[in-house]
Amino acid sequence: MQKRAPWAVPGLLVLLGLMSCAPAATTSSVMTAASAPAVKSDAPQTEAIAPGPPVLPPQTPLDKLIDAALADNYAYDKLGELCDTVGPRLTGSPGHERAVAWSVATMKAAGFDSVWTEPATVPYWTRGEEWAQCTYPLEFDLDMISMGLSDGTGGEPIEAEIMAVRDWDEFEARQDEAAGKIVLFNMPWEGYGKTVRYRVNGASTVARHGAVACLIRSVTGKSLGAPHTGMMRYADDAPRIPMAALTVEDAGRLYRMCERGLKPRVRLSMEATNHDSTTSYNVIGEIRGREKPEEIILVSGHLDSWDVGTCAQDDGAGVVLTMAAARQLLQQGLRPRRTVRVVHFTCEEMGGFGGRAYLNAHRAELDRHILALESDSGSFAPRGFTVDADSAIVADLARRMAPLARLAPGEWSVNQGGSGFDVSFIVKEGVIGVGHRVDTTHYFDVHHSRADTFEKIDPDELARNVAGVAGLIYVTAEFPADLGPAPAASLPGGTNSVGGH
Ligand SMILES: [Zn+2]
Repeated sequence: MQKRAPWAVPGLLVLLGLMSCAPAATTSSVMTAASAPAVKSDAPQTEAIAPGPPVLPPQTPLDKLIDAALADNYAYDKLGELCDTVGPRLTGSPGHERAVAWSVATMKAAGFDSVWTEPATVPYWTRGEEWAQCTYPLEFDLDMISMGLSDGTGGEPIEAEIMAVRDWDEFEARQDEAAGKIVLFNMPWEGYGKTVRYRVNGASTVARHGAVACLIRSVTGKSLGAPHTGMMRYADDAPRIPMAALTVEDAGRLYRMCERGLKPRVRLSMEATNHDSTTSYNVIGEIRGREKPEEIILVSGHLDSWDVGTCAQDDGAGVVLTMAAARQLLQQGLRPRRTVRVVHFTCEEMGGFGGRAYLNAHRAELDRHILALESDSGSFAPRGFTVDADSAIVADLARRMAPLARLAPGEWSVNQGGSGFDVSFIVKEGVIGVGHRVDTTHYFDVHHSRADTFEKIDPDELARNVAGVAGLIYVTAEFPADLGPAPAASLPGGTNSVGGH
């Protein structure tokens, strides 16, 4: 069942060179290689060596696939093309339409057997012009960005005194002061899952107490002066007030002015508008399985993005690396036993409407989806995968993927965990979800901000991520055996239930 993965020493030497920034190699697989007979691949060859029986076991197809992915510049080139020549891809915008055309053309050119689009009904929101300034006790411009799906200021600026609080508890204690004010949450970064709740729920929370607008400190752990956008939601039982984020720096300045008793005032102008819903498209490319074409390995990222920066990490990386991983099998002549389906979802950022549309269009074939991977944490150093399934399946996948551990020596793991927002809709119906894990230490530094650009992509890390996903595809699309026992639909989703991951 599980093929052994003998190491090919020359390949490993090259790899160790690539990974000079990786922690000390302590895994048993590397020990095996290190204890193999010394082979100095860089020694000058001064005389012909007579052919003899091979000293080392031959490379497996999986090893060759990984080596080829590590040596291939395709993903880096295509991600640069997407970021620089297509640009940001807000659902419903011309940028997203360009991205759909780019995705279709790119997957066709890559040799996918079929490429098509599927419609999804999505919210249509536009940002328009926006600005904010402090008007009292002194005038200065604030660096702000409206939250996605926020309403605007109604055609003219709003001006009000700032009520700055640190967190929900402080707001609750002082909520009677909120009427007529712009409430600013200067909340500390406590990780994305916890901190993002201010962005999602802040406006309605303060609107119930009469606030006229809501500002938040950008949802990031580290700032170099760029505000971060993202989706917010209006509760049905609260007035709809405008909401925007300030840079960490500007939020802190206003907060400290309040602490000094200076009662700062802010003028806020936002043209943000919610329009009638519109139609957008998921893009799907398929490599047809040679023996079990009806069985599907789905790998995905989301093609939509916010409208600032060029959205290299969120989620240009996931879009490109999943496509490049599937393409690498074709490049190596490894047409898999099962079908590989690459999905570039629309409208992840504004509520997962591409994922919902996929569920509705493919309900009848969900039991033939072997697994669904989503890559939506950027391209940083790979760390393995999380699997949203019962422990027997997780263990099976971990065994199959053991040879991939060389992509992250000492850091690799395949654990039970969540997958991704777009695939969560089919995962809830029983499909095995897989999340692509990377080192996210610096992901939220640039997430949803103008700092999310192509320069933030490391080509070696991107190649290692392509190799990892290509390996996952190979060990699940090619191996004859089914994955463990039946998927456990009863498991808690474990997926990100808040949009705009
Ligand atoms: Zn994303």
